[in-house]
Amino acid sequence: MTTRMSSKWSLVCGLCGEPCSNADELFCPSCDGPAIIRYQQPPGGMSASNEAGVWRFRRWLPLDNGDRAITLGEGSTPLVRLERWPHSLGLEQVYAKLEYAGPTGSFKDRGAAVLISHAVARGARHVVEDSSGNAGAAIAAYAARAGLECTIFAPAGAPPAKLVQIRAYGGEVIPVEGSREDVAAAAVAAAAESPSSTYYAGHNSNPYFVEGTKTAAFELAEEFPGGLPDDVILPVGGGSLFCGLALGIAQWRAEGLRQASPRIHLVQARGCMPLVAAFEAGESQPLAVDRYPTVAGGIEIASPQRGALILRLLRESGGSAIAVGDDEILAAHRALARLDGIYMEPTSAAAFAGLSHLVDRGVISRNDRVAVLVTGSGLKNPPALPEVRT
Ligand SMILES: [Zn+2]
Repeated sequence: MTTRMSSKWSLVCGLCGEPCSNADELFCPSCDGPAIIRYQQPPGGMSASNEAGVWRFRRWLPLDNGDRAITLGEGSTPLVRLERWPHSLGLEQVYAKLEYAGPTGSFKDRGAAVLISHAVARGARHVVEDSSGNAGAAIAAYAARAGLECTIFAPAGAPPAKLVQIRAYGGEVIPVEGSREDVAAAAVAAAAESPSSTYYAGHNSNPYFVEGTKTAAFELAEEFPGGLPDDVILPVGGGSLFCGLALGIAQWRAEGLRQASPRIHLVQARGCMPLVAAFEAGESQPLAVDRYPTVAGGIEIASPQRGALILRLLRESGGSAIAVGDDEILAAHRALARLDGIYMEPTSAAAFAGLSHLVDRGVISRNDRVAVLVTGSGLKNPPALPEVRT
């Protein structure tokens, strides 16, 4: 498996900008910041290619000319104006971007498509990932599409329905006892055993995954009425979508295509809120917090590896960090389904609960143009929701 760097892009530290020494260096040796991708030259303006979805933006993605794009039709998700639910908050322009319409039911397909395409270009035959659900399903699906072997290390308590989906794609699931960090360490160690053929596809640290999620920002910039929205709200655990959005918007603006710069707000569950605690305390690194079980399992990450970068990008955007309780999450889950037909997983409903807080605080008001990213499908894990069976 080659570790060549491309002439089109390179890896640099997302915090201090120092170049990474090789294509597998995921964290900066100087400051421990996460690697991000920097392009040698601006692509030179946006022009939609003939390809579909994520790959319409291929010029802005880290794949060399001639390399094969592994695709299942990801991206180009619907942007739907909500008609009824926003009225309860006094808002008029709230749009939901339905990332759950992706091929495996979550936004993770954007990242998996680009990451797996990169792995194939490098000559990988086997990918290894750590995930409790949606990312594992996406990686397993795209690995199947590319003909790669796939192994997913999962927390021993991961939702069975999500593991069923991973196995359906032919992914091998290896349960790991211990913390989420222990699961990631097991995956990294497994990949290191066969460096000639195995690629570590960890979505919480791999920069190619973030390049895929970046395309959600490009789509918002193209499709949102009047250009980019004033505010974007999303649930955040490991922050792959948050970082992709912020970096994508910065790239879009650097090309001079739009000048508007939205505030990006992140929402976490009170049961696991290391980023919110750090934001409120004025800290630059995620804080260790007391944890308790939450219905928003998709964002239950106590030590986000990109935490310092997320906090910096959050503050630069002028956004806020909001913590919400499970009762609020379930109320939003129910209200969005009943009032606007949006059936999402509870993790995604946290974003709507967070929007309510932002209105209460006066951060968002009547005339603001708002986009909420609906990150995962309600069909993913319905047994977790006995409260809404009426
Ligand atoms: Zn650094």
